[in-house]
Amino acid sequence: MLSGSAGADPGHQDAAGGRVGVLAGPDGIFMVDAQYAQISDKLVAAIRKISPEPIRFLVNTHVHRDHTGGDANFVKMGALLFAREELREEMLRAPANGNLTTRDPARLPVVTYGLGDPVKLRLNGEVVDLIPVRAAHTGGDSMIRFENADAIMIGDFYRNYGYPFIDTNNGGTLQGALEALDATMKLAGPNTRLIPGHGTIIHRTDIVPYRDMILDVEAKVQRMIAEGKSEQEVLAAKVTSPYDAKVPGGLSPAGAGTSADRFVSMVYSQLMSSAHSR
Ligand SMILES: [Zn+2]
Repeated sequence: MLSGSAGADPGHQDAAGGRVGVLAGPDGIFMVDAQYAQISDKLVAAIRKISPEPIRFLVNTHVHRDHTGGDANFVKMGALLFAREELREEMLRAPANGNLTTRDPARLPVVTYGLGDPVKLRLNGEVVDLIPVRAAHTGGDSMIRFENADAIMIGDFYRNYGYPFIDTNNGGTLQGALEALDATMKLAGPNTRLIPGHGTIIHRTDIVPYRDMILDVEAKVQRMIAEGKSEQEVLAAKVTSPYDAKVPGGLSPAGAGTSADRFVSMVYSQLMSSAHSR
């Protein structure tokens, strides 16, 4: 597992970019996510400290460029790129949504899969499951499970640096994120290491308070919507305040306001759109 430096990336103060996974051995290297394009050279140098073997496979947990930006560079080094079909569609829509800095066709996943059974890869004595997750952080999320190592890279539908970020512009949904948290708790054993795209590594018991926090904020926002409150009024009520001291980066800038504001706005708009579609 490779992480970026702290303090270098305004969007991710804890560690620049998204976390990268490397499964190395005589069968070649399998990678999870590829960081920002600008640091591909540094990433390759870090991987070469682990193994000289060819980089054969790469999978993306989701479309954001702190996870996919380097894809084209690794594909040109010979990696076969796997991702959800939805992620490929999200990439084709970009850069209208600001997610990609390149139109290089090499960035597009070659092997795609939808919802359903995991794709399994067997190499280096490990069984790797590419597990599709219904619309959660984005519309094309996957969890990557290493069965023998008992570790799961869960991407960004859980994060403990800043409040949850559900990218509804790229197909993410609040309900899907809650389902993904439930699925993770079922999939994980008591000792399974859960490796988020950002923040600290956790175990399944850490998901419970996180999920409860989301449900509590959701209930508070729902009540205010029922009282006819506007989004501005909901934001002004600071409904996350009981949690702010416990969420590192929770009040750091994110989007138009703080990470807390971005989260509460997302909850508000998700509840409003589900009310309209009912
Ligand atoms: Zn993300």
